[in-house]
Amino acid sequence: MAVITANKEVILSAGSVQSPQLLELSGIGNASILAAAGVEQMVYLPSVGENLQDHVRITTAYQLHPNYTSPNILRFNTTYAAQQLQAWTLGETSWYDEISVGTRVPQFEVLFDDGYLGMKRYPAVGSSLYGKLFFSFIASIQHAAPTSTAEILPKEDGGVVDPELKVYGLSNLRIVDASVISLNPSGHIQTPVCGIAERAAQMITAQWS
Ligand SMILES: Cc1cc2nc3c(=O)[nH]c(=O)nc-3n(C[C@H](O)[C@H](O)[C@H](O)COP(=O)(O)OP(=O)(O)OC[C@H]3O[C@@H](n4cnc5c(N)ncnc54)[C@H](O)[C@@H]3O)c2cc1C
Repeated sequence: MAVITANKEVILSAGSVQSPQLLELSGIGNASILAAAGVEQMVYLPSVGENLQDHVRITTAYQLHPNYTSPNILRFNTTYAAQQLQAWTLGETSWYDEISVGTRVPQFEVLFDDGYLGMKRYPAVGSSLYGKLFFSFIASIQHAAPTSTAEILPKEDGGVVDPELKVYGLSNLRIVDASVISLNPSGHIQTPVCGIAERAAQMITAQWS
């Protein structure tokens, strides 16, 4: 095991799952959880790892009339699938493209992809629906977007970090990742995560320069 020391501060950016786990392994968290894991309590912060938020996904699949197609065709028409794959490798438009439209509107996205726009759990070989084509509507953004396991909030309201992203009870540990988001937005979260990182860089630079 290597021990690396920091002269000024430590930045924890392991994501919404691993950041709270690393806090708990370091003795920062809920007393009962730490005790059950045999970890000595260093800082009592009961909200560490709590309040996980994520996007909900509801898919409704519709069987298409025979004169329409969908990317599900790649599942059973191997000749057509090979042609499409070759087109894709040549940089031509094909069903293997994953195209996003409406990129200026984070709440709306169309993905031309077998697993998204087609049917996610395609009927098994031998079933009466195998060989049929489907189109799916997906309610809500479908990406994994876990947040809020180390929220920016007042400590008494369940916060783990203060507005400067510093862990309550410590002066030299900041969290900079999606876990600090208090309310999961309805769109993609990568942009807010980048915003948090930019803001953190400003605060860190301001403190130490
Ligand atoms: C399948 C999928 C698709 C997604 N698609 C989109 C999308 O299209 N648009 C969008 O905006 N968001 C998307 N997201 C969400 C986005 O990727 C995450 O929200 C974002 O990456 C979170 O950033 P983060 O810095 O909090 O954590 P992460 O990006 O997960 O970074 C954490 C880092 O810490 C490292 N780490 C963890 N534990 C340790 C350890 N003990 N030691 C050293 N390193 C460690 C990890 O390897 C990782 O590199 C998607 C997520 C998934 C899973």
